[in-house]
Amino acid sequence: MPIRMKEVDVVLVGGGMTAAIVGKHLAEAGKTVVALERGPMRDTVPDFQSPSMHDELKYSIRYALMQNAATQTLSFRNFVGQEALPMRQLGSFLPADGVGGAMVHWNGQTWRFQPEWFRLKSWTEERYGKDHVGDDVTIQDWGVSYEELEPHYDFFEKVCGIGGFAGNLRGETRAGGNPFEGPRQNDYPNPPMKQPLSGKLFADAASGLGYHPFPMPSANQTRAYTNPYGAEMQPCMYCGYCETYGCEHFAKASPQIAILPAAMKNSNFSIRPRSHVIRIEHDKDARIATGVTYVDAQGREVFQPAGMVVLCAFAHHNPILLLQSGIGEPYDPATRKGTVGRNYSYQTMTAVSVFYDGTQRINPYMGAGALGTVIDDWNNGSFDHSGLGFVGGGYIAANQTSGRPINHHPVPDGTPRWGRAWKEAVARHYNSTVTLSLHGSSTPHPGNHLGLDRTYTDAYGQPLGMMTFDFPYNDRLMARHLTGKMREIGQAMGGRSISVSWLADHYSIAPYQTTHNSGGAIMGTDPRTSVVNRYLQSWDLHNLWIMGASAFPQNAGYNPTGTVGSLTYWALQAITGDYLKNPRPLVQA
Ligand SMILES: Cc1cc2nc3c(=O)[nH]c(=O)nc-3n(C[C@H](O)[C@H](O)[C@H](O)COP(=O)(O)OP(=O)(O)OC[C@H]3O[C@@H](n4cnc5c(N)ncnc54)[C@H](O)[C@@H]3O)c2cc1C
Ligand code: SF4
Repeated sequence: MPIRMKEVDVVLVGGGMTAAIVGKHLAEAGKTVVALERGPMRDTVPDFQSPSMHDELKYSIRYALMQNAATQTLSFRNFVGQEALPMRQLGSFLPADGVGGAMVHWNGQTWRFQPEWFRLKSWTEERYGKDHVGDDVTIQDWGVSYEELEPHYDFFEKVCGIGGFAGNLRGETRAGGNPFEGPRQNDYPNPPMKQPLSGKLFADAASGLGYHPFPMPSANQTRAYTNPYGAEMQPCMYCGYCETYGCEHFAKASPQIAILPAAMKNSNFSIRPRSHVIRIEHDKDARIATGVTYVDAQGREVFQPAGMVVLCAFAHHNPILLLQSGIGEPYDPATRKGTVGRNYSYQTMTAVSVFYDGTQRINPYMGAGALGTVIDDWNNGSFDHSGLGFVGGGYIAANQTSGRPINHHPVPDGTPRWGRAWKEAVARHYNSTVTLSLHGSSTPHPGNHLGLDRTYTDAYGQPLGMMTFDFPYNDRLMARHLTGKMREIGQAMGGRSISVSWLADHYSIAPYQTTHNSGGAIMGTDPRTSVVNRYLQSWDLHNLWIMGASAFPQNAGYNPTGTVGSLTYWALQAITGDYLKNPRPLVQA
């Protein structure tokens, strides 16, 4: 018999960014809220302090802040029919484990999606006709518009103290910003980061080719700043230990720094660490969630009854938990019916390295997660896709995030992979190379999805989540076209040689790419093709809400967290402004 806890108004699954925001605002609305986080409690002091925080082996190679694959992992295959195997190590993406979630060890590159992304299907058909892409490109409209999200983007940027330069202020295009972004009501709360030489070399070449470079929007603070929650944040030191590390300097926006201090002041809100949720309990007849069952630090099963359940467990855990709990219809790739697990998407990344061979000093060790110069000329809404046969796009950036000793050793193609020649090449190119990256979109494909693998179980006896994914044809075309454009910029940057990392023939789950998983519990206007409505409320159980990038019907050519944050505030507006007064489905199916 599980232990039964005292009922709360709201239980949150997860203790990351979305949980911190939802917890703060629902506690303020007078609700008792508990967040169940599977990992440990962590805070800037003492957990993220030097010198131990600058241990590359521990944090970047052994992934000390990430999900432990020995407890819970995914099985993976490229296509339906291939044998799926469990991931023994998390490689391609690095889901978090512990209070603060992935925003503890993120980079801080904080974007808004262009308006077109929210109505990608309608936009593509209106602009290029119904046959522009095949029916294996299962893009969808989101059911929410950029205009509706704009004030929430604005607030999220203020909470995170984003540094940047607006390119489209209330419809007026401004030189030096991103001319392709949607109109914003306010400039960023802070100025952009100082750009290094790598950014200047990229900007000069890109401008020469007629593009529009601008500084990347950054959650690495550019000056001392106090956010709307009263959190005091400090300027970034460009220490280069950003992605996969917590920030010791109170400079990278994270739940610990920006949100939790204010949330924890309210006695209505609490976090219970080391509480791994294994099931959402629900009453099928009444069509409501009744609470969740979790395993506590002592290994005991505990039932937490609640009036409302909010999933905040990260993109791929949300749909897998729904499947493990028997909520909603699992997606079946053979019939294309069912919704849970559908439209799983990722990101399409390629790179170009420019080798200056001693003629430029780049100093890569001075970096920050979101330090970079970018062009958005090749994102979806920025160019004409006529005759190209694909939708989507992405931004191209020269980011200077780190020059850490274990992972950073750029060498030209053809260099031996070990031995004296390799060492000499590393010594020669370490301080004299600039790498460009394409951050490309990911369109959904009927074969790509999340499901359950009943062959394997996790440490709690649950069937493993199973991921089926390969790069769709649409995205291969997109990556080929845009990597060619990136190569032209690389060639114009004045280096002695360049190397190009084209998109691999097949997606591999082993090398790190990004932790920008999306889809699986997507939002929409039709319960036959979506799991949640336009307010992120479950179509099946009206008191179940699902936050995070699992709601994206397709992934855009940007990092996701700006949009995840704005969607969270959008959903909260519906919950506090309407739902709590009269709990019911906010949209009739
Ligand atoms: C290395 C890295 C770099 C990144 N860089 C960027 C970037 O530059 N820009 C950008 O936009 N985004 C970036 N991201 C993505 C960003 O961190 C996420 O979008 C954001 O953290 C999502 O917030 P969330 O609340 O949905 O999930 P998370 O922050 O991941 O929080 C989910 C929490 O739920 C917990 N959890 C999961 N399952 C359970 C369970 N069954 N029971 C209890 N708890 C559970 C997890 O332990 C975790 O703490 C990066 C991510 C990583 C890992
Ligand atoms: S680069 Fe800046 S924001 Fe990132 S960890 Fe270092 S000081 Fe913090």
